[in-house]
This record gives sequence, C-alpha cells and structure tokens, in this order.
Amino acid sequence: MVSESTPLRSVLGGRTAGPLAANRGLQSVGDLLGFWPRRYRSRESDLAEAKAGRYLVAVAEVKTATTNRMRNGRSMLKVVITDGTTDLSMVFFSVYGHERALQPGVRGIFAGTVTSFNRELQLTHPGYTVLDEIDSGERSDLIPIYLHVPRMHTWKVTESVRLVLDALTDMPDDLPPDLVARHHLVTRLEAFRGIHTPKALSEVERARHRLRYEEALVLQLALAQRRARARAEVTTARTPRPDGILAAFDERLPFELTHGQQVVGEDIAADLAASTPMHRLLQGEVGSGKTVVALRAMLAVVDSGGQAALLAPTEVLAAQHHRTMTAMLGDLASGGYLGGDDRATRVTLLTGSQSAAERRAALRDIESGEAGIVVGTHALIQDAVTFHDLALVVVDEQHRFGVEQRDALRGKALSPPHVLVMTATPIPRTVAMTVFGDLEVSTLRELPAGRAPIETFVIPDLLPGWLERVWQRIGAEVAAGHQVFVVCPRIHDDAPPDPGTELWTEPPDEDGLDLDNLGDGGDEGKGGPGGGAGAAGTAAPQPAQRPLRSVESVAAELRAHPALTGVRLGILHGALPSVDKDAVMDAFARGDLDVLVATTVIEVGVDVPKATFMVVMDADRFGVSQLHQLRGRVGRGGLPGACALVTGSDSPMVRERLEAVKSSTDGFVLARLDLDQRREGDILGATQHGRRTQLEFLHILEHEDLIEAARADARALVDEDPELARLPRLAAAVAARVDADQAAYLERG
Ligand code: ADP
Ligand code: MG
Repeated sequence: MVSESTPLRSVLGGRTAGPLAANRGLQSVGDLLGFWPRRYRSRESDLAEAKAGRYLVAVAEVKTATTNRMRNGRSMLKVVITDGTTDLSMVFFSVYGHERALQPGVRGIFAGTVTSFNRELQLTHPGYTVLDEIDSGERSDLIPIYLHVPRMHTWKVTESVRLVLDALTDMPDDLPPDLVARHHLVTRLEAFRGIHTPKALSEVERARHRLRYEEALVLQLALAQRRARARAEVTTARTPRPDGILAAFDERLPFELTHGQQVVGEDIAADLAASTPMHRLLQGEVGSGKTVVALRAMLAVVDSGGQAALLAPTEVLAAQHHRTMTAMLGDLASGGYLGGDDRATRVTLLTGSQSAAERRAALRDIESGEAGIVVGTHALIQDAVTFHDLALVVVDEQHRFGVEQRDALRGKALSPPHVLVMTATPIPRTVAMTVFGDLEVSTLRELPAGRAPIETFVIPDLLPGWLERVWQRIGAEVAAGHQVFVVCPRIHDDAPPDPGTELWTEPPDEDGLDLDNLGDGGDEGKGGPGGGAGAAGTAAPQPAQRPLRSVESVAAELRAHPALTGVRLGILHGALPSVDKDAVMDAFARGDLDVLVATTVIEVGVDVPKATFMVVMDADRFGVSQLHQLRGRVGRGGLPGACALVTGSDSPMVRERLEAVKSSTDGFVLARLDLDQRREGDILGATQHGRRTQLEFLHILEHEDLIEAARADARALVDEDPELARLPRLAAAVAARVDADQAAYLERG
C-alpha cells in the first residue's frame, strides 16, 4: 500500500529517489507530491528566452540535423531546433544514438544550460526526451516544469510524480467533507493530480484553489486556537484609581490628546478592566503619539498595584523610551525617593549592556515592585528577571519580536498579563488577520496637530553635482541650528550591508513562460528582499553595482567637506559598543551633535525635535516602508522636515519605488506597495531567515475573501472541537505549521 508517508525509494527505486533526496530533500511520497511545478509550459513555447548561463527547458521541433566529421576523425552532430519562430543550435560530440533519435520533424523537450560559442547561443549535449514517449495516452497541452533537480531532467521528475500518483492507494482528505462541498473544492488527491498532471489550465486553477484554501484554513485554525486559549484565560482586572498616578499624569499633560488617542485609550482601559487578558495591536504612523497611549495604559496598571514592562527592539530605543517616559512623568517618576510625589512610581531600565551593579539594582526594583514601569530589551526575557506583579506587557515595534518572545515575557506574570503591541508599520487588514490574527487592532490615523509635513526628494547620484547640493543643504540646515541624519546601508567599505537594512534587491527576471508565479521554491530564490545578511547566500546573482556607501566613508567625506567645517558630526551603528551607541544618541538628542551618520539603528522611535533633514544614501537598497519609517525621524518638533533619497541606480523599478515614497506620505499606501513587491513569505517574517515556512498558494493581499471564509470556518471548527480531535490530519497540519514557525523563531535566536 502506498501512502503519503511511503519512502520514495520503495516506489521509484534508489537511482531516481537518490537525487531527489540528496538535492531537494524529498524523502517520501508526500514530499514529492508537495514539490509543486514552478510553472507550466505550453507546447507552443519559444526559444527566444534562451540566455547564456541559464538553464533552459524548451519544447521544440528538430529542424535540421547534420553530422560533421572533425579533423581528429571523430563525428559531431549539429542539430537545430525551432519553436516556429526562433532557432537554437545544439551540439553533440558523441553522435551515437542521437543521430537516430533527432531526425528532422521530431518534437521533444530539450533541457540544458545555454552557452555562448562564437557569440552564438547553443546547447551542448542537452538532455532531451522525444515527446511521444511521455505523451502516450494522456494528451495534455501543459508540461509541468519543476525546479531544477541536479542530475535529473525535468521530465524524469514528471515521470516520477506520475508513477507515485498512479501507485497511491491511500489518500484521505484533510478537510471535513462539508467544507469541501461548501467551497466547491476538489479532493486532495484530485488537487495533486491537477497540479502535477493537468490536462488544462482550469485543472491547475481548481487544484490551486483547493490547496490555497487549505493553507488559509490551517493558518486560521492555528490563530483560532490561540484566540480560544487566550479567551479562556483569566487574569486580574486592572482599574485605575480616580486620584491615582494616571489622573495626575493626565492633569500635567502639556497637550490635548487627539481624538484617536482618546478612543484607543478608552478601548484599552476597558480591556484592562476585564478579567480576560488584553491582546491588542496599536498601529499608527511614526509620530502619531503611540507612546503616550502606551504610557497611559502602563499608569493605569500601576494604579492598580501592578507593573508594566515595555519591550523595545534595540538598546538605543529602550534607552530612549526610558528617557522620554521619565521626562514625561517628571516628579511622578521619582517613586521611592525623598520628596517625590506620593503617587509616584519608578521607571527602571534593564538592558544587556548594563554594569553588574546597575543590573543588580534594576533586578531588585523589578522584583520588589518598586519599579512600576520597566523598560528593556531582550534582557527582560531572561530567567534572572522576576517581577513582583507583572500586569501589562507593551511590545514596541512588533515586527522584530515573535509571538514566542511575547509568550516568554507573559510567563513571568502571576496571572496572564495584558499585552499591547505597538507598530509604526501600517498593516493591511488581511495581513493583520493572518499574521496578527490573534490580536484586536486599534489604529491612530491622525497626527497630533502642529506636525509639519515632510518633503521628499529623489536625488540621482549619477552626476557629480547632485550629491554636492545635498552636502550644501546639510551645511545650511546646521547653520540654521537644525540637525541632520545621514543614513547609509553599511558600516564601512569592507562590511556587508548592515543587518538592519532590508536589502531590497530587484527580483531577477524569471526564466520561462510563467503562467503565474506559482510556488517559486524558496531555495532557488529570486533575489527578493531578504532578511539582511542571511539573504545574501540565497540571493540570485545581481548585476554589478557601485559599492554601497558606508557610514565611515560618508562621515570621512563630510568631515573633509569645506561647506561643513566646524560641524559636530557623530557616527552610530550596530558594531559600536552599547555604551558608545547610547552616548552618541544622547549627544545627538541633546543637540551636542549636528549631524549623525548612521545605519538603520536609528530606524524606529528615535525622537529628536530639531532634526529637520535626512539623507538616505543608496536609498534603493531599503524597503519602501523602511524609508517611510526613516524619514519619520525628521520634522517632529514643529519644524518642517525634508528627506533626500539618494540613489545610484537608474533602474525604472527602483525609480518607481522611490517616486512612490516621494509622492505619498500615507504609510498604508506604502506598506501595501511594499508588500506587493515582496513575496508573501517575507511578510510572515520567518522566511527571512531561510526556512521554508512561506505560503505557497495563498497571497495575503489578493485572496482576501478566501482568508475571510477560512477565518469563519476555522472559528466554527474550533468552537465545536477546540483541539480538533475529530480532524486528526488537519490538527497535524496545524501543529506542523506552528512547529515550523517556532523553529524559525529559534533559528532567529
Ligand atoms: P510615536 O511613538 O507614535 O511615533 P510619539 O508618541 O513618540 O509617537 O509622539 C511623537 C511626539 O508627539 C512626541 O514628542 C509626543 O510628545 C508628541 N505628542 C503625542 N501626542 C500628542 C498630542 N496629542 N498633541 C501634541 N503632541 C503630541
Ligand atoms: Mg514611538
């Protein structure tokens, strides 16, 4: 009996199973069935796309075949194949067998790496199969093309899949029959047949629809289970005292809360006052005032005797939050000190770089409960940290934290804490439903009044004069008493791009007739945006480019520039010791530095009111949303801000992206554009780190209706059967998905 778990070796034999296992990790029947064709080639394909160095698979007809005798006495077979429009030469240095097989008029599939000889493209000893061989019986107009398996031709893969599909005797469906019927889905077996051996494109589409739904359902089931478990949790309700620290803080606020801040504040207050833990995502543009909202939530729990922890993605940000919160609270942050307000609390910082003494003191305050508010980095998650009564966890910039990290911190509370996640990256609805599906979403749409707009310029760094004007402008800003950020994609000229850089690279053009960008297969990845250094290994070869600008070289250039004499310039990047980073950031925030040349360590949350101008070098190497985030650092203090996006690229696609950043200041629009240009997997974060957990059929932006439907179905299934005991195969798929996400998280470290 052959089932999905049967080893391939026992169905196909070692000779075929060997390369599949060694090169693509395909061990079982199920693995091979999950090795989706990347695309389909119709019989009418053209050879025009042949390019030197590219692996080509083409359906063509033999036009001429000539055997020549070479000077050394041996024979050479030259075959010209054609698709009707374009011809391509093939050479065989051993004619044996080929001479007979490749007669004019014969149609076949030809595959091999294209080379260039005497400036003519050719295939040398390509593999081929004469079409009628695999054609017998089933006429189909579509030939599945698989990701190249070294030492195996694509039709050999096709043949193996066919063998396996024919041998399958046992293929139960994962989905309950009523869902299959309601959504007009084909069965699992039909889906595999439709994907691998379609007779028409409509079959492929039906198969994908089914697999796509299954993907959406598994994702939504995982989230529904998470939500159900969360709803079943019981925690301490937290209500502020009418005359407590929150009331005192509100009295002292130097500004009115915006309408949005008030509404979100009320929602959060209601969540905190319930005995089910809050799980809320607060999204809002840079500068929309999330910090105040979070601080008010933290004060509400302090009022009720609990503690609040704020988890920041970097030391610089943790330090800054600590500073701003302490400053905003004023004497309300002097709890435990002589002369402090009696409603006061203490704001304690905990980061990895503190001295042993600082750390001991911080840990003591956290454990005793003296610290009502604790701000920190990952250091907060460590075992040594014990809270007196952790009531609320605020996570700043969710995209840097996994669900698991949230959980680690949750584990430190007596009863499950309330969780508030803040992000400045606007999240389209379907992404929120998919990636953050276990969270309620609140959005701050308006910016506090008095915020000046930011003007953005795209500066082509192709002619010498342009950059000069940017340097001049820096001088002018500094002369006016303003401050300037210069962001570079790497630290020094020999360094790889900084890990914080999203490293946007243009996807190289695909080889072949792409009916749709079906399951690209992570491993032969298109360049795509990846997660910094990790992506470098998998990125496709890129066209030669001017070396990326670095913090050190740009800083040196600026120091030597006549327009900038006397300017106080600092540098900031991830390779500096934390104390230095903090010192530089502090100095810049205090106004002791005029220009800060930095990598993206300044990306999130940094608040310097007098910063008015930002220059982003090699802006084309950053993601659209990232650029939007970066420029949000300027124009925060009521002074108008400007941002120069410098690029040495003249690619139309690059220009389009940068022009989009220039012409829109709507973070939602840009986030959507960003996602459109990425592969779905990257949205899910995990794949940025090289693991194949991406969605293969589901496109989060496109398949909104399907995601909605799957979400409703998942909810109903989980309501009825929380652990999916009656659907063991589906339960296993959900568990596998959760495991994969967790493994990806662990790899990320
Ligand atoms: P975010 O964290 O969303 O980027 P912040 O909370 O840091 O934004 O707010 C940005 C700046 O705006 C801060 O200096 C903050 O004090 C100020 N601010 C926040 N809310 C208001 C408001 N309602 N009116 C005026 N200024 C505000
Ligand atoms: Mg902030």
